[in-house]
Amino acid sequence: MQDPNPDGDSRRIELDMQAAQLRDRIERVHLHRLLNAPLEDAYSESLSERANQPVLDELEASLAEQLQQVKRARQRIAEGAGDYCEHCGERIGIDRLKALPYATSCLSCASHSAPA
Ligand SMILES: [Zn+2]
Repeated sequence: MQDPNPDGDSRRIELDMQAAQLRDRIERVHLHRLLNAPLEDAYSESLSERANQPVLDELEASLAEQLQQVKRARQRIAEGAGDYCEHCGERIGIDRLKALPYATSCLSCASHSAPA
């Protein structure tokens, strides 16, 4: 199968690297949670030491979301649709893809809805 996009390979590599980095960071947040969780944490949900938990929850959620987005972009490349906006079907544009390898929508759709 021929790849119509000469930059497709470098974008795939870029996305794989980003996915690996995100998994690494998620792993570290998990570890951080484990190390910082008080021993009795499992038995007492209302401990004040849990105060930093929401921050970690938020960080982890945002990392997981980024990973999802990277995976989605990677999947779309695998399907041969990586260059096209998932909303309007227009070409996303090489400049945008270079700046945001995980973008799955064109600039005009992205500015109307959720980021990237
Ligand atoms: Zn679009």
